[in-house]
Amino acid sequence: MSDFGVTAISCTPSYFLHIIEKAKQLGYDFKKMKLRHGIFGAEPWTNEMRERIEKESGIKAWDIYGLTEISGPGVAMDCPARSGLHIFEDLFYPEVIDPETGEALPDGTEGELVISTLNKFGMPMLRYRTRDISVIVKGTCECGRTIRRIKRIDHRNDDMLIIRGVNVFPSQIEAALLTIPGVQPHYHIVVRRHGDLDTLEVQVELAPELFGDTIRSIETIQKKIGNAIKSIIGLAVTVTPVEPGSLERSMGKAKRVTDLRNNG
Ligand SMILES: [Zn+2]
Repeated sequence: MSDFGVTAISCTPSYFLHIIEKAKQLGYDFKKMKLRHGIFGAEPWTNEMRERIEKESGIKAWDIYGLTEISGPGVAMDCPARSGLHIFEDLFYPEVIDPETGEALPDGTEGELVISTLNKFGMPMLRYRTRDISVIVKGTCECGRTIRRIKRIDHRNDDMLIIRGVNVFPSQIEAALLTIPGVQPHYHIVVRRHGDLDTLEVQVELAPELFGDTIRSIETIQKKIGNAIKSIIGLAVTVTPVEPGSLERSMGKAKRVTDLRNNG
């Protein structure tokens, strides 16, 4: 594999994690391969996930944004400055709106990204609501481009879970998990309702060396994970460490949440 001339790959970040894992199992060393760049998109992912991918694979991870309804990938992409994704304004007209009222918000304000296409024939889109939450950033970027940027998208309107009156995004849990060494970037969130109380369970894979550890050290890391999540979302959650490789791997967009509240 190290002789392949492939230097770049494009897929979802969760699928690339699956590739990293498989490569490790098969004994390939990513750092000896020619692969240098990964262009990842099609699902919300955090900066912490980007750091983890770069550390584990030795490649540069770039963020690309797009939607099937608009053009597929390539509506916006980040640059080496990493201060937002440049939106290709000659092709797309971006706006940010208040998702509740539909009112357009000024640049620099967080809201739902809405896109109109400027050069599409046949199926033009006017003020298409993306459900993605972002901020439009104007001004010249460090890289020299003057087109506006959108802040990296790590959550969507329809990702939001309301747990005991608190708004929780899976990306907040991802960010908390990945600050802890030995926690793998594979997790799943299960929401349940017991009586009137909503509960949140975070199943997370630990590194094999940690998973094989004593019960006491697993409990310590479990507590650490619980505290890290609580410090971000303000809610106590149940942390369930699971065996490495046991959570379902995604070949496309990752499914991070199972919400059992409506069916018991
Ligand atoms: Zn730039």
